[in-house]
Amino acid sequence: MSKIIIHGGFFSESDQSREVKIAKQESLKKIAKLSWDFLQNHTALETVSYSVSLLENDELYNAGTGSQIQSDGVIRMSAAIMDGESQKFSGVINIENVKNPILVAQKLLSEEDRVLGDIGAKNYATEKGFKDYSTEIPQRRKEYLAKVESLRKGTVGCVALDKSGKIAAATSTGGKGFEIPGRISDSATVAGNFANEFCGVSCTGVGEDIVSNATAAKIVIRVSDGFSLEKAFEKTFEELKKIDGFAGAIAIDSKGNIFHQDSYPTMVFASFDGENFEVFD
Ligand code: ASP
Repeated sequence: MSKIIIHGGFFSESDQSREVKIAKQESLKKIAKLSWDFLQNHTALETVSYSVSLLENDELYNAGTGSQIQSDGVIRMSAAIMDGESQKFSGVINIENVKNPILVAQKLLSEEDRVLGDIGAKNYATEKGFKDYSTEIPQRRKEYLAKVESLRKGTVGCVALDKSGKIAAATSTGGKGFEIPGRISDSATVAGNFANEFCGVSCTGVGEDIVSNATAAKIVIRVSDGFSLEKAFEKTFEELKKIDGFAGAIAIDSKGNIFHQDSYPTMVFASFDGENFEVFD
């Protein structure tokens, strides 16, 4: 049994055209299928990084190429990966000018210092052979110049369960757009991305809300302590409601159950188990 679920964040209010919706459904289906195929002869850990790198390369999403621009006109990206088996978490925070932040995060898994920020993250990437790459696309510059603020642009994430029962989670984001330089997104924290032997979760939404609610870590811990995936989401999203939090999350547990929930419509997601697709509508 192997399972995969991916997300592409929330629908941007300015992007809610039928064309964009169809493009996102098609893209997510294609990436879910490619990722599932990859999972057939790779580990969950290798697969979540591969899957998120495909999402980062697609301009439709706010991660990697197509990331949003911060208030000072610079793109800074964050990404994290967590191996449910070893419980190792690694990530990059506010990295600039690399094509795939998730691949830098994955590289850090084998280091003693596993979460790097800003220039330290960029220097590490350069040292490891990641080339300078601008992830800016004209559409994002246009939005930046028009000062269109949108919190619903589309962070990406993936959770996978491989044939040997191992779980991993990965998340990557261009942030919320127009943020103060130095702001830390939830995506490269255990609130936005968490996995252990029982469950893996990747989140999207307002980073501050996700951190206040410790969303991913809470869901995983609840499942570890015996909650069903559904109940763990129910309780965690009830708590999120109390702070009027804006978030969505995807998850897989060790039994192969897949689940997703969002506090506001509509999180963009797709799952695939080798036979059936479930895609957001
Ligand atoms: N969670 C991301 C952040 O706050 C944004 C998003 O998921 O859309 O940086």
